Amino acid sequence: MGSLQLKSVRKSFGPVDVLKGIDLDVKDGEFVIFVGPSGCGKSTLLRIIAGLEDATSGNILIDGAEVSAVPPAKRGIAMVFQSYALYPHLSVKDNMGLGLKQAGTPKAQIEERTKKASAMLSLEKYLDRRPAELSGGQRQRVAIGRAIVREPKLFLFDEPLSNLDAALRVNTRLEIARLHRELKATMIYVTHDQVEAMTLADKIVVLDGGVIQQVGSPMELYNRPANLFVAGFIGSPA
Ligand code: ADP
Ligand code: MG
Repeated sequence: MGSLQLKSVRKSFGPVDVLKGIDLDVKDGEFVIFVGPSGCGKSTLLRIIAGLEDATSGNILIDGAEVSAVPPAKRGIAMVFQSYALYPHLSVKDNMGLGLKQAGTPKAQIEERTKKASAMLSLEKYLDRRPAELSGGQRQRVAIGRAIVREPKLFLFDEPLSNLDAALRVNTRLEIARLHRELKATMIYVTHDQVEAMTLADKIVVLDGGVIQQVGSPMELYNRPANLFVAGFIGSPA
């Protein structure tokens, strides 16, 4: 119900080989963190999983089925970006429900799911507001709500907290951890932040140079960093 397998996934932009063969197994319900230097291809890999970008070669399997030919809306995936990408002219409620509406979901079901998601995110009081009338943290919660209402098997987060100030980052991180427990969905999450990686992850995947340098639990990476990048990121002596 939300497992993911990547098999020899490669991606080139013209002559530039960004991903040089990514193999990865994500189990149903796992919280997996991607880390790696800026420009190493983390966002590209998320976009390939979501179907927003095609891999140059390789296989992507969700729950055992190859999805390379499946359009993004049919993959059972929802993505949350660093910039909230909300529609300024739509209310919170309509921003959250827009994807469902476009997919032809009955109105009553949209209402019900929007209500449930807004309760999970303490957004009930803000449903009729426009994004401009919300704080940054509230806007990011709307973006997360927009993902939740689609009831995806797999959530992809691309540095979702990096636009928030320190206090809000902590709150929103704890909220995402709680949502992971409640929804029991698989989550793949890109971050630069060591604390986010160490506290949220079941498994951390370190990308660099177009390949996976190391995969392991936070403690495994802490105790046995495979290289200086990992050691520096985790903050343990190499
Ligand atoms: P990260 O998210 O790890 O910072 P990205 O996945 O955004 O890295 O980018 C990886 C590399 O691919 C970068 O060198 C970037 O410039 C390049 N890249 C990403 N998208 C495109 C694109 N659409 N066209 C050309 N190059 C791209
Ligand atoms: Mg990125």
